Amino acid sequence: MHQDGLHVEGVALADVAARFGTPCYVYSRAALTAAYAAYRDALQAHGLADRSLICYAVKANSNLAILNVFARLGAGFDIVSGGELARVLAAGGAADKIVFSGVGKSRAEMRAALEAGIHCFNVESASELDQLSEVAGAVGRRAPVSLRVNPDVDAKTHPYISTGLKTAKFGVAFGDAFELYRRAAALPHIAVKGIDCHIGSQLLDPAPAAEAADKVLALVDRLAAAGIALEHIDLGGGMGIQYHADEPAPAASDYLAPMLEKLAARREKLVFEPGRSLVGNAGLLLTRVEVLKSGAEKHFAVVDAAMNDLMRPALYDAWHDIVRVGACPPAKRNPGQTESDTATGTAAGTPMSYEIVGPVCESGDFLGHDRQLALKEGDLLAILSAGAYGMSMASNYNTRPRAAEVMIDGDAVHLIRRREEIPQLFALESLLP
Ligand SMILES: *Cc1c(COP(=O)(O)O)cnc(C)c1O
Repeated sequence: MHQDGLHVEGVALADVAARFGTPCYVYSRAALTAAYAAYRDALQAHGLADRSLICYAVKANSNLAILNVFARLGAGFDIVSGGELARVLAAGGAADKIVFSGVGKSRAEMRAALEAGIHCFNVESASELDQLSEVAGAVGRRAPVSLRVNPDVDAKTHPYISTGLKTAKFGVAFGDAFELYRRAAALPHIAVKGIDCHIGSQLLDPAPAAEAADKVLALVDRLAAAGIALEHIDLGGGMGIQYHADEPAPAASDYLAPMLEKLAARREKLVFEPGRSLVGNAGLLLTRVEVLKSGAEKHFAVVDAAMNDLMRPALYDAWHDIVRVGACPPAKRNPGQTESDTATGTAAGTPMSYEIVGPVCESGDFLGHDRQLALKEGDLLAILSAGAYGMSMASNYNTRPRAAEVMIDGDAVHLIRRREEIPQLFALESLLP
């Protein structure tokens, strides 16, 4: 059954490319399920699973089929817009397991979330609290609220995805939170439910999250002493994943342990908001080499995926391992990903250092620098660990249709988003009269 080259679960990537074309995002249902189970098992190990809600952060990858896989596993959802609310409901997610984060919720979004009956609004400013109270009054409801506090800890990650420093736009300054809770508790259309924090993304060191938990718990106790008892504590997401074969990420159980140890003795319910760690290693971007060319100093492999498909390299100078489909991958780490005997793989070119670049007219349009690969035109490449902040950040820059997305489930392949067609890209535009 196994042919040459790289497989995801029981399916050869070469077959996926033949059927659905490239560029194409490929996800493994088994890997999604395993990542969720790892998070849940880490909670279980501390006796916390029964009073915890794992709210998948939708912005990491918002495809309906992926949301539906998590909904079936019992997950809640962390949303940041009315659009994501609509997606979660369309995917079968439970409204009462949704938390709504974000620094700039519109009144229309607040109303939609109130009418849907979400679990909690994570409020990030005094003004938002007032606006939410007003909107809730107008629709005749009380808005369940937690305040997102900014614990001022250094998450030691890329500055664009570090959110817990006091210079960040996110959350309520730690020193202002107590007073704001008192105000919230006095507002007629607000029901104070919890507290939350989220200090950043792609965190590999558990210490900052544990430090943030300490600060949050101290505030919870201070509030309780003042008569404001919180029902839940939300410690956000941020757990990092492996992007580089030589740089393993900690297991969920190890990363979460220092934080969970602090929670085991408490009585509040817990909420977590993992995004990247549930989907990142469960997806890859399949692309084909269009052109090999040599410049004055470098060799380029121009592939049919580009920065509009996967923005992370251009935006964060992020690393993704890139392997030739048909060749041995450098490491087997995506749980759903297996390799078969490569003896029958198609003959490779000469190994050399390539710049892996897309066709977009920007020098920042690269997917990988200095990759030692043996390539020929027409080869398929897999850009690994692309399940998070890949398709969800994709655009139509250069009027490029967004990629197809497929989900592998055992030996089955499901198309979960058709490739966009060019007329769709300008269907909403009009000529002047
Ligand atoms: C983005 C985000 C998350 C998810 O972060 P990951 O690093 O993907 O786990 C969780 N909570 C909030 C408020 C976010 O903005």
